[in-house]
Amino acid sequence: MQKEFVVIALGGNAILQPGQRGTAEEQFANVRATCRQIVTLLEQGYRIVLTHGNGPQVGNIIIQNQATDAVPAMPMDICGAESQGMIGYMLQQSLADELRRRGMDRPVASVITQTVVSADDPAFRKPTKPVGPFYDEVYARKKMAEGETWMEDAGRGWRKVVPSPDPVEIVELEAIRRLARDHTIVICNGGGGIPVVREKDGTLRGVEAVIDKDRGGQRLATGLGADLFMILTDVPAVALDYGKPTQRWVSRMTVAEARGYQKEGHFKAGSMGPKVEACCRFVEAGGRAAVIASLNEALAALAGEAGTRIVRD
Ligand code: ADP
Ligand code: MG
Repeated sequence: MQKEFVVIALGGNAILQPGQRGTAEEQFANVRATCRQIVTLLEQGYRIVLTHGNGPQVGNIIIQNQATDAVPAMPMDICGAESQGMIGYMLQQSLADELRRRGMDRPVASVITQTVVSADDPAFRKPTKPVGPFYDEVYARKKMAEGETWMEDAGRGWRKVVPSPDPVEIVELEAIRRLARDHTIVICNGGGGIPVVREKDGTLRGVEAVIDKDRGGQRLATGLGADLFMILTDVPAVALDYGKPTQRWVSRMTVAEARGYQKEGHFKAGSMGPKVEACCRFVEAGGRAAVIASLNEALAALAGEAGTRIVRD
């Protein structure tokens, strides 16, 4: 039974839970639980392409890079590629194991994915996204003198900030499309994609930036012509007055309603804001609907019985 084609963006909690240190065992245990959810959707007949966040993983890779001078530190684009490989590996192995356990025979593949951003994106003039660990002021001032942007986080120390430009084009889109068309379960565009700019002669060059994984996921979903774009995170749905006594969950909203709530300040900039915006863009670009739901209610959310569905006006 063939159901909709869904691009799923996995949130940070699919790989690492709050309070965990990020050992291989912890991450594998979370990823295995995530893959049981995903395989249940495959079993129901949904066609799936997966994308995922990489914040904590890339942060840890940066710390490892800075921990020694014995080997050269790698730039952020290469750290991003490393994180895609590491998370892709865990998902690939766990998906294959769970598929075999349920007697399903499906190929699984990860695609290291580059995403083109515009060198003129205003984000490059105003870095906003904190990356890596906290440092003291002396270290931060030294790095700022070298041209980096750093910000103080009240009481916790100083952190490097990088630009968060809009994704423009997914370089490996055609490769991903062919794999997906051929019924391969594809894991791609991790961490929103490795940000690259295209030089005038067409050459690609990695840049120091972070693409929002939900915005990247929308580009992927729209580019692949998915029926649905589903963002799985750690809350059951989108809320109005989130965290206030008047908080209420929204089961369905149109793009216009979502944009209205956004203007009223219901969705936080670094978390729910980009998710709702990505969903609106997906639907505006012709997608059937977008869904924001809890990781453990994915199946119910696709059936319209959980989460928040964002639909055309
Ligand atoms: P992910 O790793 O899945 O992208 P985020 O932390 O970026 O997770 O986003 C999910 C978080 O968004 C929730 O844990 C919640 O604290 C926060 N959030 C902010 N505004 C809202 C809202 N209006 N409704 C629901 N959650 C919200
Ligand atoms: Mg997030």
